[in-house]
Amino acid sequence: MSDHRDIHKGPERIELNDGNTIPQLGFGVYKIDADTTAAAVGTALEAGYRHIDTAAFYGNERGVGEAIAASGLPREEIFVTSKLWNDRHGDPEAALRESLDAAGLDYFDLYLIHWPCPKQGLFVDVWKKFIDFREAGLVRSIGVSNFLPEHLTTIIDATGVTPAVDQVELHPAFQERELRDFALSHHIAVEAWGPLGQGKYDLLGTRPVVEAAEAHGVSPAQVVIRWHLQRGTITFPKSTQAAHIRENFDVFGFELTDAELAGIDALDEGEDGRRGSHPNVMEP
Ligand code: NAD
Repeated sequence: MSDHRDIHKGPERIELNDGNTIPQLGFGVYKIDADTTAAAVGTALEAGYRHIDTAAFYGNERGVGEAIAASGLPREEIFVTSKLWNDRHGDPEAALRESLDAAGLDYFDLYLIHWPCPKQGLFVDVWKKFIDFREAGLVRSIGVSNFLPEHLTTIIDATGVTPAVDQVELHPAFQERELRDFALSHHIAVEAWGPLGQGKYDLLGTRPVVEAAEAHGVSPAQVVIRWHLQRGTITFPKSTQAAHIRENFDVFGFELTDAELAGIDALDEGEDGRRGSHPNVMEP
């Protein structure tokens, strides 16, 4: 295994089922305060990230847009995702326009239905609107978040349009194997939220992670990010600390071995590993 670090090499771009591409590693901004988001995203863009994951619910789309404007980078070089919140399934177009206004952008690269909210029963109608948004050029790609295979099947059967991505909770304790198999067979890219376990359990202290970190002279967080990348998921770890933001992007100079990957795979707890809400109970 080489110790050589090439921090200038960036993430791969993953091709989506609509022909667009997305950088496999990005920066997430959940729970970053509105007034510190621009600084954090600015640090991320300087470090080389070109993919930012925000949402109306996070209340910080404005800061994301400010950092993009201040960076001087061409808009088309940055992939921006936002999401429709659960209480806006009745008026998604107004919600999308509010999000674009807040971010000061003409379009999002990817727009997601944040949760299916099956009891509300509107997600098929929302998906039809999303198809219109894409046709109108307000968004380049459309997808969903926290959709189970049953929700995916419902919208695909109703419209014939397969989401480009499904963004779901996914980390070593909760590996979403069934969902990943379904997604693979339908050419849906899987995005991992909470990739570092959101600090809700001691993922970074587990033996396979710590041993791989020692073997490669990297941090446990870098090992877990590398595991996501080598397992093919798109991900966007969050941090407000500049050192962690840079560290989490410095993952292209080493590679986990098959044995190291298998050791981390073995941390899967199946459904017991879920730390966040179940998609069928989350409602507005
Ligand atoms: P995460 O797994 O990225 O964990 C973030 C936490 O890990 C930070 O608060 C920090 O304490 C710690 N951390 C980060 N870098 C570290 C490092 N190098 N060393 C040690 N600790 C480190 O959790 P997240 O932010 O919830 O998830 C990532 C992104 O996923 C979010 O910011 C958001 O964009 C998205 N997300 C989406 C949904 C959804 O429902 N679609 C839900 C949650 C998160």
